Amino acid sequence: MRYPGLVTEPTRRVPKLDLVAEHERMRGEVDAALARVLESQRFIGGPEVAAFEEELAAASGVGHAVGCGSGSDALLLALMAEGIGPGDRVVCPAYTFFSTAAAISRLGAEPVFADIDPTTLCMEAPQLAEAIDRAGQPAAVIVVHLFGRVAAMDALLRLTDQLGVPLVEDAAQSIGARDDAGAGIGVRGRVACLSFYPSKNLGGYGDGGALLTGDAGLAERLRILRDHGRDRDGLHRVVGINSRLDAIQAAVLRTKLRHLEAWTEERLARVAIYNDLLTEAGAVIGVGPTVRAEMPVRLPSAPAHPARHVFNQYVVRVPEAHRDRLRDRLAERRVETGLYYQQPLHHEPCFGALPSADVALPHAEAACRDALALPIHPELDKDQLARVVAELRQYFVRSV
Ligand SMILES: *Cc1c(COP(=O)(O)O)cnc(C)c1O
Repeated sequence: MRYPGLVTEPTRRVPKLDLVAEHERMRGEVDAALARVLESQRFIGGPEVAAFEEELAAASGVGHAVGCGSGSDALLLALMAEGIGPGDRVVCPAYTFFSTAAAISRLGAEPVFADIDPTTLCMEAPQLAEAIDRAGQPAAVIVVHLFGRVAAMDALLRLTDQLGVPLVEDAAQSIGARDDAGAGIGVRGRVACLSFYPSKNLGGYGDGGALLTGDAGLAERLRILRDHGRDRDGLHRVVGINSRLDAIQAAVLRTKLRHLEAWTEERLARVAIYNDLLTEAGAVIGVGPTVRAEMPVRLPSAPAHPARHVFNQYVVRVPEAHRDRLRDRLAERRVETGLYYQQPLHHEPCFGALPSADVALPHAEAACRDALALPIHPELDKDQLARVVAELRQYFVRSV
């Protein structure tokens, strides 16, 4: 054993996410931030939101950050700012959270679903190229940096630059991540969309989102669109939406942003422990063909330096015949897991009439059947990590 002397209490709960414990650590700072907003009674816009936008842009190494009401709205605003509307096609992966595609549909445009790479679980350039061959020239492309891993941007940008269409980054799960050239989210794409949903790596105390872009003109358009389309002179030349980041969220997020880098490192230290313990137990990293029968579990492969995967989720692949039984068994043992995603988007009923509803996207479909998200967050201790691995091993010792 690499981690000897661990005391394992079999009934101790291993929460998938522990926001209560995080709040305990943050209580003093968050209370002070909230008090500031309550004293000011400025809840919409104002100095907290402006300061958060500046600090977020600086931390991201991107010229402009524009706050908005949620990650879903950030996607909608990004597409609105690019003029996406009826008759347009927008490519996105079939294996992602629903709102990636919903943003396209809500503007009357057509989502064209692409498959994913079986190792990175992101839509990469070959899958994008296949979708374009199948459906024709798109008006925009949304890449999703899934679970905290940035898709290979070089190859994607070569394609979108060739076509002359914007590459929108759905970075809801990947704040702090870097691509294969070492660039952060929003640095190389046209615009990156962030979510501050409480379970994201930078989570608010409610809904919130932001857009990152290096283009000053685009940032200005986004500021207008999030505020009903109201221009600086008070006139409305376009119809926008009401999607503002409120000051309470901004104040909490400012406080948490200062800790984000340390929390990301703590998260990655836990990923390393999982990798060690699980490989020791017989799991394999990546898509290797040889899986020891007693532990048929495949671990997420880390990208090569200087890329940085920030593991908003730690997702393993379990043979489909076992996945749901294993999840039930873990639940009985008080180890919480998650299913991302239960349905590939091209099989969602609301997208049933789309041309891409009937295409085979085998890797996206397989991931929906065999992916299992294990608990990962900075509050997990080594004992809890060892418990998760011990429970997995127990299950397979009995079942295989
Ligand atoms: C969370 C998430 C969103 C939406 O963010 P909300 O803030 O919940 O609206 C969009 N895309 C992906 C990939 C997400 O994980």
